[in-house]
This record gives sequence, C-alpha cells and structure tokens, in this order.
Amino acid sequence: MFAPIWLGMTYQTDLKLFIDGAWRAGEGRDCHEVVNPATAQTIARLPLATEADLDEALHVAERAFPMWRDTDVEKRSAILRKAGRYLKENAKDIGALLTQEQGKPVKEAIGEVYGAASMFAWYAEEIKRDYGRTLVRPVGQRSIVTHQPVGVVATFTPWNFPIYLLAKKVAAALAAGCSVISKPPEETPACCQAVAKALDEAGLPQGVFQLVHGVPDMVSRKLIGSDVVRKISFTGSIPVGKHLMHLAADGVKRLTLELGGHAPVLVFDDVDLDKTLDQLVPQKFRNAGQVCVSPTRFYVQEGIYDDFVKGFAERTKRVQVGDGMADGTQMGPLANARRPDAIRELVDDARAKGAKVLAGGERGNEGFFFQPTLLADVPLDADIMNNEPFGPVAVARPFKDMDEALEQANRLPYGLAAFAFTENLRRANILGDRIEAGMVGINGFAISSADAPFGGVKESGFGSEGGKEGLETYQVVKAIHMC
Ligand code: NAD
Repeated sequence: MFAPIWLGMTYQTDLKLFIDGAWRAGEGRDCHEVVNPATAQTIARLPLATEADLDEALHVAERAFPMWRDTDVEKRSAILRKAGRYLKENAKDIGALLTQEQGKPVKEAIGEVYGAASMFAWYAEEIKRDYGRTLVRPVGQRSIVTHQPVGVVATFTPWNFPIYLLAKKVAAALAAGCSVISKPPEETPACCQAVAKALDEAGLPQGVFQLVHGVPDMVSRKLIGSDVVRKISFTGSIPVGKHLMHLAADGVKRLTLELGGHAPVLVFDDVDLDKTLDQLVPQKFRNAGQVCVSPTRFYVQEGIYDDFVKGFAERTKRVQVGDGMADGTQMGPLANARRPDAIRELVDDARAKGAKVLAGGERGNEGFFFQPTLLADVPLDADIMNNEPFGPVAVARPFKDMDEALEQANRLPYGLAAFAFTENLRRANILGDRIEAGMVGINGFAISSADAPFGGVKESGFGSEGGKEGLETYQVVKAIHMC
C-alpha cells in the first residue's frame, strides 16, 4: 500500500552468538526461526547457545572481570562513549532491522536506537561521578565507604524495546566495571547484535561482553545456577520474574526485576480535552501498546467522560496501521504470533461482560495485526481491568472525585507507571504523592530517560534502571576502616 522507505533494505541473515570477542554460528547448533510480524514470514534462522557455549561464556566472563574492574575509568568511559557513537551513526540501518523483526514503525525504531546510544553516552560520564564518602572519625583515623562492581552480571531482556532495554542494562553494568552475559530475546536478534558490534568496534576487551541467544529456560537456569554470576537483571513478565527470583534465591544473588504494569491514567474535568486526547491516543498506540508503561486504564471524571470516549474513539479509528517499514504507518503489527490471540481473548471477555467496543476490537487477516481498540464502561471483573493487556487496547471508566480515582488507580498489584491530567497544582501534588507507582507522569508521558531512575513497586518489581540508581544496582558497597 505504501512505498517502503528503504527499497533495497534486506534483513541481516548471518545471525550469530558473541562469546570471548568472537562471533559463533553453525556447528550443529539448534536454530530459532526469526519471523517478520508484518508478514508472518520467516526471515532468518538464529543459532541457539548450547551448554558448552554457556560454559565458555561463563568462563571467559569470570576471567575478564578483574581486568575490566581494574581498567582505568577514563578508558572504560571512552569505550562506552565510542559504542554509543557507533549506535547513533548506524541508527537508520539498525532501526530498519528492528522494524523487520519486531514490527514497530521504523521512525519509532530509529528513535529507540538513539535511546540505546544515549544510555552508553550517559553512563560513560556518570561512572566518573561515582563518589563514595568519608565518615567522621577521631584525628588520624579514617572510615570510607566505597563502591565496587558486583562481579559477573547476567541480563535477560524482552522483545518490546529490544535494543533500548539491552543497552540500558549493559551500559550501566559495564560502566560499573562488571563483565556481562546477555540473553536478548530470540524474536529480535539482529538489533541486539548491533550492541555487541558497537562494543567490539569500540575496543571492548575480549570476554567482557557475551551475547547468547538460546532456549530461555535452559539459559536462565544455567546462568543463574552458576557460581560465577553474582547479579541478574530481568525485564519481562511477572510469572517469569517470580521464577527467576526462585532460581536466584539458591545462590543469594542480587536481582533487578522490571516486570511490567497496568498504568492508570486519571483525567480530571479541568483539562483542555482536545489537547489532552491529542497526547493520549498516540501514546496508547506507540509500539502497538506493547510498552510496560503504556497508558491503559483511563479513569475519566464523570462530567467529561462521554466527550472523552467519543474523542478517543474518533482518533483511534484514524490511526494508520500497517507494515512498520511503510511510509505513513503509525502502528505496526504485534511482535509475535502469541500476542493477537492474547488480546483477542481479553477483548472478547470484556465484551461478554458488558464493555462497549467503541473502536477496533478485531485482529487482522495476515501478519500479527490487531486493530487499535477502545473499550468503554468496562466492568471491574473483566480480565483486562486486572491483567496487563500489553497490546493496542485502551479501557475507560468514569470516576466521581479524587478519592475514587486514587482508589481505582491503586487497586491492582501492579505499580510501575501512572499518569494524571489536571490543571490543579495542589491536586497534582497529592496525586504524585499518593499514587502507588515507581513513576508518575503529570500532564505528560516523558518518564523514561538515561538520567532518571526507572522501576516499579509492588509486583511490578524492584531495583532501578537509569540514573545514578541504575549504576548502583551493579555495585556492592564496602566500608573500609583505618583505625
Ligand atoms: P513470557 O512471560 O513468556 O516472556 C517474557 C520475556 O521473558 C520474554 O522476553 C522471554 O524471552 C523471557 N523469558 C521467558 N521465559 C524465560 C525464562 N525461563 N528465563 C529467562 N527469560 C525468559 O511472555 P511473552 O509472551 O514473551 O510476553 C508476554 C507478556 O510478557 C506480556 O503480557 C507482558 O506482561 C510481559 N512483558 C513485559 C515486558 C516489560 O517491559 N516489562 C516486556 C515484554 C513482555
């Protein structure tokens, strides 16, 4: 329907593992089929790590750790800066790979690569400001508190922001002086391999960073079960996060868990409705709603509720859906074959329980598409009011006053992001204080950046990524007393 932006662009098919500074493929390894979600066609075969690959990854990461830990901070910083520059300079090509394996519009994909680059740039500088402290002691004595890298880190990242989330973890861990073994998602390998290429080109010493695609359960058991790994960082679903917590408990290993959310959006009747809707609708359908902080549960003050759902539905119907590589596409397909079925089930359940479908509600005929959807008057017992949809569906309900809005916002075990729209400053302050979430956006959605901590409360997980807090999660604290 639309002219592709890069007519000559073909997908990278030489997918490999990266261990001890070398690329590995073939040699009888099992393979995973990489599928373009816009067409449901296989576009490449990805070699999966064997036990022997993982043993080697562990061995070389353990060997490289003391050398990297003791590498001068200026040198570590320069390598990270160069890696960030490589990603920035190649953002257009990497973004095109990402779109072909994940589906998002290529402009969004390129923006994601820039976001990944910004993580390397930011941590390259932040590590220079890693101050400890000196405690007050009698004359001639000293007690100092200092930070050290935790050791070998294993990261597990998902397919919704495959390069950004990988970069967020890896940049902070490498800056802290850790060596890293990363298992990126098998659905989106090529854009993740760009991170290994960037680090390799930037001169990262052999063994400091490994990229091992594999069968998730096998890889996580092996890496988390190994004495070599001291820290695990996972982004993904709550059930998998709980499972990894159990695995980590045996070795008393440190964890960062970012497990998704079900973000409430409280819209009060003092807002400029058109302006607010113009902001809300594109945010809802960004990355086809497959965003852990996606605005999802829209609670709207009763006086403006009818106009709100009418305006939301009109804008939702205008969202241009298509292949992410096509010019003009505003929303691509969902990332894999599991997602349209999961969304379909949630929509059918809500409809059966009395929700009104004001826009969308159906899946596409080919690829993994699902229409941008608005459900209104959704009953609280509908599954979608209680379980993260992780797809292009907004749900709306009216509320009376701030107390009711807060009660609804806080009723679920999730606590990642929340948003509120109001012109009343005192109310905004109270909402900021009282909403149970790791991040609260007032009158906007800019809640994720390299310099700000990002993380959840309740079952959305614990530990921050981004900001100085993101560095601390890869460090241990040591007190040295000179008596
Ligand atoms: P899933 O629970 O099977 O997997 C989620 C992620 O965890 C994937 O990246 C997967 O490769 C990885 N994973 C699965 N089993 C693992 C294991 N044993 N060890 C290590 N990693 C493992 O779900 P899915 O079908 O891929 O995604 C659906 C749900 O996942 C969504 O509904 C959403 O709630 C959640 N999710 C959350 C985020 C986030 O940013 N927090 C990202 C992607 C998916």
